[in-house]
Amino acid sequence: MQKSYLSLTALAFATLALAAGTPVWGQDAEPLAGDDMADVVEVEEEKPAPPPDPALEEALIALDVAPVFDGHNDVPYQLRIRNDNQIGDFDFTDTTRTGENHPDGRMMQTDLNRLAEGRVGAQFWSVFVSVNQTEAEAVRQTLEQIDVMKRLIDQYPGQLAYTDTADAIEFAMANGRIASIIGMEGGHSIGSSLAVLRQMYELGARYMTLTHFQNTPWADSATDDPVHNGLTDFGKDVVREMNRLGMLVDLSHVSEKTMMDALDVAGTPVIFSHSGARAINGHPRNVPDGVLMRLPDNGGIVMVDAVPGYLNEERREWFAERVAVEARQKSLYPGQPDIVEAAMADWDDANPEPETTIGHMADHIDHIRGLIGVEYIGIGGDFDGIPNGPVGFEDVSGYPQLFAELVRRGYSQVELELIANRNALRVLRGAEQYAASKRDQRPIETLIPETE
Ligand SMILES: [Zn+2]
Repeated sequence: MQKSYLSLTALAFATLALAAGTPVWGQDAEPLAGDDMADVVEVEEEKPAPPPDPALEEALIALDVAPVFDGHNDVPYQLRIRNDNQIGDFDFTDTTRTGENHPDGRMMQTDLNRLAEGRVGAQFWSVFVSVNQTEAEAVRQTLEQIDVMKRLIDQYPGQLAYTDTADAIEFAMANGRIASIIGMEGGHSIGSSLAVLRQMYELGARYMTLTHFQNTPWADSATDDPVHNGLTDFGKDVVREMNRLGMLVDLSHVSEKTMMDALDVAGTPVIFSHSGARAINGHPRNVPDGVLMRLPDNGGIVMVDAVPGYLNEERREWFAERVAVEARQKSLYPGQPDIVEAAMADWDDANPEPETTIGHMADHIDHIRGLIGVEYIGIGGDFDGIPNGPVGFEDVSGYPQLFAELVRRGYSQVELELIANRNALRVLRGAEQYAASKRDQRPIETLIPETE
């Protein structure tokens, strides 16, 4: 009862703020030969224009006012694995030919053309590095990822703007450039050192995901065997120090107990930079209702991802079945990969991957809105960190189609704008204001105990 009252009040406030012109929340393939090309152009000219889509038009109006502030994109990692971070000849305007330098022929899902088409106004670029290395190596590689992303931003001053505050993001968006802010995915990137954490903040990291797929020495991951029962005492100091600095605490990838512990300690709103709702898809990467219910008190947001395995429960079940069948084949025919491969090809023919659609993504958004309200929702696609997105949202050009689906489901302009960027800006501003209020507080000097 009280929750719906709060939601309506917040919406009314957002509407008033919009009407007054003030920021909401105040405070807080292969190229074609020339001849073929001529044919194609002729055919395209004869094609009738597609019928207007009123839902898409409404979505575009909202995204013109409030371009998408996406919580998670892995372009820096693509630059490492495809280009060894050598980007002098890299063309970020159009990456549709990048299949040539990927082992599976996969093209990048992000480029400047498609970001513009997708109405992206601000992007958290993830400086993710693999967890399968020493922490010292992870720290070195994280520095390299920050460096490569800053160099990429510098190469496109007309399209990208480096930012590290909410005000700077709004200024860049108002000037038609994509505000580019750094997020650090995985606590392994600080080498279990609060000093390294502080220096990562100095270098621009404005969120840290506490873990990736594996536990850190101080926090349990959602996809690893629990060993710490959530956060260790040092892990709690990591959260406190992030709050003091003004670095957002990102709870995507962490275990449910780590989520709860972080919410107990956090003095500022938390984020889930790329996660869905576990009530819709049971994967542990998604946020359980019990955690969602705590967000209104905390003020944080879930930025819903575009990962088919986390969105579509049928797809999750299908994948588990496929892994089991493959394991059985490998056990039956060890050292005979040709037999296993042929068996899996037969299985794949008989069991095609269930289709994941934009509707699945909207289902997660619907669930969170229904449970706690629209103020706690953002978007964190995870593009270039995933093999593929939902049908119709295969790359960063697809956001307007998602928002059109929300229009069809009855979302108002104010709600679309909150989801697109206003909630995320509110949360970032909340972290900044908390840090400003703690400026006289001394840095935390805790060392990780030898046993942790
Ligand atoms: Zn991730």
